[in-house]
Amino acid sequence: MAVKNLDDLLAEGVSGRGVLVRSDLNVPLDNGNITDPGRIIASVPTLKALSEAGAKVVVTAHLGRPKNGPAPEFSLAPVAAALSDQLGRHVQLAGDVVGTDALARAEGLTDGDILLLENIRFDPRETSKDDAERLALARQLVELVGDDGAFVSDGFGVVHRKQASVYDVATLLPHYAGTLVAAEIKVLEQLTSSTDRPYAVVLGGSKVSDKLAVIENLATKADSIVIGGGMCFTFLASQGVSVGKSLLEESMIDTCRKLLEDYGDVIHLPVDIVVADEFSADSTPEVVRADQIPDGKMGLDVGPGSVERFTSLLSNAQTIFWNGPMGVFEFPAFAAGTKGVAEAIIGATGKGGFSVVGGGDSAAAVRQLGLPEDGFSHISTGGGASLEYLEGKTLPGIQILQ
Ligand code: ADP
Ligand code: MG
Repeated sequence: MAVKNLDDLLAEGVSGRGVLVRSDLNVPLDNGNITDPGRIIASVPTLKALSEAGAKVVVTAHLGRPKNGPAPEFSLAPVAAALSDQLGRHVQLAGDVVGTDALARAEGLTDGDILLLENIRFDPRETSKDDAERLALARQLVELVGDDGAFVSDGFGVVHRKQASVYDVATLLPHYAGTLVAAEIKVLEQLTSSTDRPYAVVLGGSKVSDKLAVIENLATKADSIVIGGGMCFTFLASQGVSVGKSLLEESMIDTCRKLLEDYGDVIHLPVDIVVADEFSADSTPEVVRADQIPDGKMGLDVGPGSVERFTSLLSNAQTIFWNGPMGVFEFPAFAAGTKGVAEAIIGATGKGGFSVVGGGDSAAAVRQLGLPEDGFSHISTGGGASLEYLEGKTLPGIQILQ
């Protein structure tokens, strides 16, 4: 069954109605400062449309992974302020999730007002494995928007989670996909159904274990899979190469070897590596051959020779999916690999290719390295969600909208 979207809800009429929106406002913070507002900006269109149509908007979202209930460092306060700036309209923040303050504020909303609830993960029922516990929280969320309320699912970054504010609320209210979720699904459908060839996949980031399933799934579909980042060292180690102090997942070595045996013509590893003495921004970079990483050194980026090889593989690609930085791009001395590969993807996009960036850190890298966001066809807000979709898994938060 087709998913109803925001336009359907607007056509049904929302003026004066309570609308609960699940947004993804999980932005990186450094000492209370938002270092990358991408997810806040991406959440604006849905909230703006609802507010302008006169809905009483109640937004729920999470920030980080608070473990033991409310904690000030995980408060959505900085997010409420940034969201107000982006919307050009005051967003109130409730002092609790579904408590007395949230209820009072929800009751006081007038048409077009926007209320942000405190971090939904302050309530442990949000992520509970117990269906009844999650449903109880979902019922309290529904209470905030009243009997004729509606639910708009717009937090793409969480649609792979069976959580109260993502999944259970949709079982209780008429439900719609927000503009962000609808756009993300459309792109992922394009990546899985009608892929123009050559299809190249670029994978990096820190852990192989996070991305093995997607490598296995895409190895049969893509023409090439380029591997960099911290995960390349487990692949190199599986070939008997010594990787020094580089990131290594011992338990994944056999799986990586098997993948290279089965898909050696598809998977491409770096030929050179930028190494350093330690994991620090001011450690001196040195380029070595990938099979000659000195003992005691650690690989923090792919080298210029690798960028050149990867660029030639990417230059004529018609479809590209990129997830995970090629190196520790947060340190300028180790950002060249990520920048070079990103530029190759931008080049292929400029020649008519379709490119998708998935993953929070990859998207942050694009912005931090000063690359043009519109150089890519789509920058996804949800790393885990897009990976699970590409692995062929069913996403609970999408399934429940159908
Ligand atoms: P994404 O969020 O895009 O999915 P990941 O979360 O998987 O990406 O990985 C991003 C992190 O991987 C970055 O913080 C980056 O510093 C780190 N990383 C990349 N290359 C290396 C490396 N060689 N050694 C250690 N960490 C690395
Ligand atoms: Mg990440």
